[in-house]
Amino acid sequence: MQAVTLLGSTGSIGVSTLNVLAQHPEKYYVYALTANRSVESLFDQCQQFKPAIAVMLHEASAEKLAKKLKESGSETEVLSGEQALVGVAESNKTDYVMAAIVGAAGLLPTLAAARAGKHILLANKEALVMSGGLFMKEVEENGATLLPVDSEHNAIWQCLPVWNQQQHHFEGKGVRRIILTASGGPFRDYELADLEGVTPEQAVAHPNWSMGQKISVDSATMMNKGLEVIEAHWLFGLATEQIDVLLHRQSIIHSMVDYVDGSVLAQMGNPDMRTPIANALAWPNRIDSGVAPLDLATVGRLDFSVADHKHFPCLALAYQALEAGGTSTAILNAANEIAVEAFLKKQIKFTQIATIIEQVLAKVPANTGDTLEQVLADDLVARKVARELIS
Ligand code: NAD
Ligand code: MG
Repeated sequence: MQAVTLLGSTGSIGVSTLNVLAQHPEKYYVYALTANRSVESLFDQCQQFKPAIAVMLHEASAEKLAKKLKESGSETEVLSGEQALVGVAESNKTDYVMAAIVGAAGLLPTLAAARAGKHILLANKEALVMSGGLFMKEVEENGATLLPVDSEHNAIWQCLPVWNQQQHHFEGKGVRRIILTASGGPFRDYELADLEGVTPEQAVAHPNWSMGQKISVDSATMMNKGLEVIEAHWLFGLATEQIDVLLHRQSIIHSMVDYVDGSVLAQMGNPDMRTPIANALAWPNRIDSGVAPLDLATVGRLDFSVADHKHFPCLALAYQALEAGGTSTAILNAANEIAVEAFLKKQIKFTQIATIIEQVLAKVPANTGDTLEQVLADDLVARKVARELIS
């Protein structure tokens, strides 16, 4: 039996993970569940999965949860705060850590799991975007196993030989480039001029995937793909020019590896995150995920086209930040989080998300990003500058 800690268990990835775990009670049990402040959801999950520990970031929410659990006769211990999130990620009572907190908030507990040498199921791409160099160093030095859950990276991972999957670089392995596929989000067919007036409600209605709010907006701007380019750079040790993005509206091919002999390997499946989650959980074996078998005759056709940087300026900004290096990608990520939040609150227009990020990147000088302190400091400055620009 493997013990699992779920960071961000009440979110979209968290819920999908619990769905997979519930199908295999003989293989896995839940050690800890964590959430920000959704008391009701975490209470229901504690009733079903009976973790030893439940953590809520928000203290008053934790108190509410503790009271409800006590009244129900539950033995789950409730903790609160950032340090408690780190504690359940690094605890010697857990083997697997699902990193599914959204945004920069996921960095410290995910880093703690790396330092403790865990099997990390990585959904929180922001951890690599902010501090990929530091993160990969901790993974390697502490013998952690990094298993990509983001569907594109999991696809690439599956297209590598198993013996190469824990190497984190492609040198001498015959890889020419990787191709990250992107659905293009809800606005892929919009004229440029029509993007200005789109609403948060339209932005979060993704045509193929059901996801949390922030990543849904990121998919609409295609900053999500930009963050994934940066994530791929660190996960697979590839140069910027070896990472391509291709629009593929059906979201059936989740990504591809182009080898020097001309072979292109693709991983396919229905767009359901339970597939990459089950793949990462069971690696190097396979388990049932509950996802319906892919019926290509019904899908009928697979379309591909170029991802236009004019249509998706956030994608271009992400490539630029990756090229600039150091803390540029942490600055990009922080500015994006603030801009997306402001767009969701209807404080800025959809098209201003990119403008704000561009201005923050121009205003905030990047550091080398050699220490976590530097990364966190630049993250804070970028947030402050983004807020000033918005107001
Ligand atoms: P979500 O918003 O649905 O869930 C986020 C979870 O994190 C919730 O449990 C929430 O309580 C918790 N949380 C939020 N803020 C927190 C904070 N400050 N401190 C501690 N916990 C906090 O998000 P999601 O869509 O499940 O995405 C989670 C991560 O996985 C993101 O990094 C996203 O980019 C990545 N990801 C998601 C998908 C997807 O299909 N949803 C696919 C690939 C990658
Ligand atoms: Mg993805």
